[in-house]
Amino acid sequence: MHDQHQLQGAGGLTRRPQSGRNTYSCTDTSSAGVDLLLHKLSAMRDRVIICVVVAGAMSLMPLGHLLARGIPTAPTAPVVILQAGHQAPMESGYRAQTGASGGPFGSEVQFTIRASHAVITMLRADGVNAIESPGKVTPYASSAAIFLAIHFDEAGGRGSIGYAVYDPPNNRNFYYHGQGVGTPRPTPYPDSAPQRGATRITPRTQAHSHALAVALNHRYRAIFTRANGADGTFLGIQPGRAGDSRMQYYYGFRRTNATARVIIECGAAGSDTAFLRRISLIATAISHGIIDYLTATGALGAQASHQTHA
Ligand SMILES: [Zn+2]
Repeated sequence: MHDQHQLQGAGGLTRRPQSGRNTYSCTDTSSAGVDLLLHKLSAMRDRVIICVVVAGAMSLMPLGHLLARGIPTAPTAPVVILQAGHQAPMESGYRAQTGASGGPFGSEVQFTIRASHAVITMLRADGVNAIESPGKVTPYASSAAIFLAIHFDEAGGRGSIGYAVYDPPNNRNFYYHGQGVGTPRPTPYPDSAPQRGATRITPRTQAHSHALAVALNHRYRAIFTRANGADGTFLGIQPGRAGDSRMQYYYGFRRTNATARVIIECGAAGSDTAFLRRISLIATAISHGIIDYLTATGALGAQASHQTHA
């Protein structure tokens, strides 16, 4: 996603030193985020019990009834949206941002389509209701468990993971000239393309998004090695509000109501091209990170995790 420019000065963003990993201290809402997540995890366990009861009741329903409704996995399966970055159709306001060139398949979008398809296949094998979204976030404003956008950076860039940041009052759309050109700002330019309304990012959203980022980072940095063809740099998790604004304030985070919202730059064209060719390796790490998060939050039963591709 080389083409989304820095949100320079937007919201008074300030630089802070990156704190230790696996903490919430990168934001002002650190302890609140942890408390909220713990509270939520407790609530999710209760919900799992309810879902088990519901699932038991639904098992009495004729199988044909469920099939007729087109349910691809168990009725209680968590929904995970994998966005193939820059895949058409694009989101209004961002249609000019067509992605980086180069990489193992000639363009960023040819990578993101392959990677997202592979992740979806693996997640479905583990009982997750994984669905694909193009650049235009689809479905809009849905309440999925996870929204994950897959990208790679242009030559000279670096791999990294960004997560949705709670940052009022800037919890709103950013506008470019036309369909995504120039410097973004929080108010429309006269020639800005119309945008769909922004969904909310709450402290709970941030806590879950960061937890998913931690899980993905644990799996992904283990494979981002020279032995696997990566010759560039993987930065790990972006540091809260001080992180890369094009990632922490990604437009896709504001077109969904998913519980956890994350973007991953899988590497950079050029230096990491040999690594980026390894779709199965990359998709396995990403799907494992997703399963780790879903299992830890109780959204997916532990017995369902890593059944087919551990
Ligand atoms: Zn991209």
